[in-house]
Amino acid sequence: NADAAMYLAKENGKNNYQFYSHALEESGARKMMLEMELRKAIKKQELSLYYQPQFNILTGEIFGVEALLRWNHPKFGFVSPAEFIPIAEETNLIVPIGDWVIKQAAQQMRAWNKQGINNIKMSINISARQFHCSDFAEIIGEHVDKYGLNTKMIELEITESTLQNMDLSLEILHKLKAYGFNISIDDFGKGYSSLSYLKHLPIDTIKIDKTFVDDITDPVHKGSLVKAIIDMGHNMNFSVIAEGIEQKEQLEFLKQNNCVLGQGFYYSKPLPKEDIEKMLLEQLEKH
Ligand code: C2E
Ligand code: MG
Ligand code: MG
Ligand code: MG
Repeated sequence: NADAAMYLAKENGKNNYQFYSHALEESGARKMMLEMELRKAIKKQELSLYYQPQFNILTGEIFGVEALLRWNHPKFGFVSPAEFIPIAEETNLIVPIGDWVIKQAAQQMRAWNKQGINNIKMSINISARQFHCSDFAEIIGEHVDKYGLNTKMIELEITESTLQNMDLSLEILHKLKAYGFNISIDDFGKGYSSLSYLKHLPIDTIKIDKTFVDDITDPVHKGSLVKAIIDMGHNMNFSVIAEGIEQKEQLEFLKQNNCVLGQGFYYSKPLPKEDIEKMLLEQLEKH
């Protein structure tokens, strides 16, 4: 895209060329700045986790939460993970940051366990670099052991692109399964995807990407792909969860097509710890 912009800019004359190259320089400068600031973010306590509840669509109960990283910079304000996670990946900063996320989520789970909240799953996003970092399985296994958590209540979300080196990935997945972790394929169907890999992998859940959920209300597609993914997932004995549910119509469609797990703004945005805790305690009291 940068090349295309340059090309167009050249075609349109010198001034435009300067304008575009200036814009590119600026975005490069922002990236460098973010990288520098990100290096200090853990120490300066600018990172936090938000939690988005995951619902059983049939009962309306929360069965899990997804931990989502937030970076609140004193000058830039909240920087989107969509912007800073790729930078963290490129620079390998994702390794200490990912480690911080796991510790934080584990501590939170332990705190909730102490309050009697034992039946809520915790989903943690794991980036490709982090997953393939040496001893990842051992390190996360140790963390979780230290906090006395039940690994069956922890789900690790990885994307299809993490699995590109199948042999290496399989080895790591088997180790993680030996610890008892659940594995989920995040953004399922969005990336490069070969369906045949699914049957070779020890995974538990597929998480249908939001773009397919959006298609439910598309007048042409009418959710035909969602339907196919739900059926395939169930036939292979996976749990199937839909992400990015924003409308009642989408929810009804999912229900009718036997997708009983869901997450999205229709239910709730990701919430700071205090707010999610309140929801979880309220649910606990009802029982
Ligand atoms: P993801 O794991 O696929 O997370 C779902 C994203 O969609 C989240 O964005 C969430 O806030 C947003 N979302 C949830 N429901 C809805 C909805 O109904 N509508 C819309 N429009 N959006 C919805 P967020 O928190 O900005 O995170 C973006 C991505 O950054 C995540 O996508 C994940 O890939 C990455 N990420 C976030 N936290 C972490 C982390 O701790 N570690 C790693 N490695 N990646 C993370
Ligand atoms: Mg996720
Ligand atoms: Mg996702
Ligand atoms: Mg995503």
